Amino acid sequence: MQRGELRSVLLDALPAGTVRWGHRVRAVRDRGAGRHELTLADGATRDTDVLVGADGAWSRIRPLLSDATPTYAGVTMVETYLDRDGEQHRAAAALVGGGTTLALAPGRGIMVHRERFGRLHAWAQMLVPPDWADGLDGTDPAATTARVAREYDGWDTALTALITGRGTPPVVRRIHTLPAGHRWERTPGVTLLGDAAHLQPPNGEGANVAMLDGAELGRALAAHPDDPEAALTEYERDLFPRAAAAATESDNYRRLFGDDAPHGLIADFDAAHRAAA
Ligand SMILES: Cc1cc2nc3c(=O)[nH]c(=O)nc-3n(C[C@H](O)[C@H](O)[C@H](O)COP(=O)(O)OP(=O)(O)OC[C@H]3O[C@@H](n4cnc5c(N)ncnc54)[C@H](O)[C@@H]3O)c2cc1C
Repeated sequence: MQRGELRSVLLDALPAGTVRWGHRVRAVRDRGAGRHELTLADGATRDTDVLVGADGAWSRIRPLLSDATPTYAGVTMVETYLDRDGEQHRAAAALVGGGTTLALAPGRGIMVHRERFGRLHAWAQMLVPPDWADGLDGTDPAATTARVAREYDGWDTALTALITGRGTPPVVRRIHTLPAGHRWERTPGVTLLGDAAHLQPPNGEGANVAMLDGAELGRALAAHPDDPEAALTEYERDLFPRAAAAATESDNYRRLFGDDAPHGLIADFDAAHRAAA
């Protein structure tokens, strides 16, 4: 499912006006007794009796609960979309077929998904220092493309065409992570979910786990309508082990781009195949 469609499914299930767009939280203050004051970007303030930090990797709410901040995970991705019929990447499009292609080498990978309407979604993924992308601020797409292409010097042009072909302007993403097993002491009136709680490098599960957190939190609040503290306690009791288990399963990058790439992933496929047989 495409992310935008999933987002529409979730938003359309809510009564109109539930989500108030354009209310960016700039600051949050503990007012004691489980209450918090939010200051919004326009300077307006709001008091909360239950505050859920669902605000992603760089959560403004997390510091109320924990000193943890995301650290660089060693991987930088450069993302682009290409139309199906682009002349320059016809050979690559044929390689991808109707699904996904992964081309893996030590420290480098190119991954491509076939998406809706035949579009190709391509990722160059590199184990590089955090300063690799310094200066690539999106204002000069050709400079970004050239820097990525240098990293794939000598690769088959059918694959590098996915980077150099005329796609959407490349977007650079430095991947960050919270410590595996990140947790906090129960603190009245506030909790976290999704990436705010347990940011991990992408492993195909982040959105699933975030939605599950939201569903479990909703269920706990509905089960204790007059006692949000009981609900938050129950929610966090299950959240921490669930998030820790998902994190230990997610050391994808060493497996995908480790020194023996692509054999780590091949071994995984073999093991899965044997388990299913
Ligand atoms: C490159 C990449 C590829 C990925 N691929 C996949 C994949 O294939 N499958 C998968 O399941 N997961 C994938 N993930 C992970 C997935 O995107 C996240 O785990 C998921 O989006 C987490 O959802 P969330 O709601 O917790 O946070 P987010 O999706 O980050 O949502 C946080 C929201 O909070 C808002 N916000 C932030 N700050 C404020 C503020 N101060 N005030 C108000 N609002 C604020 C943001 O605007 C945003 O809407 C990928 C991640 C990356 C980086």
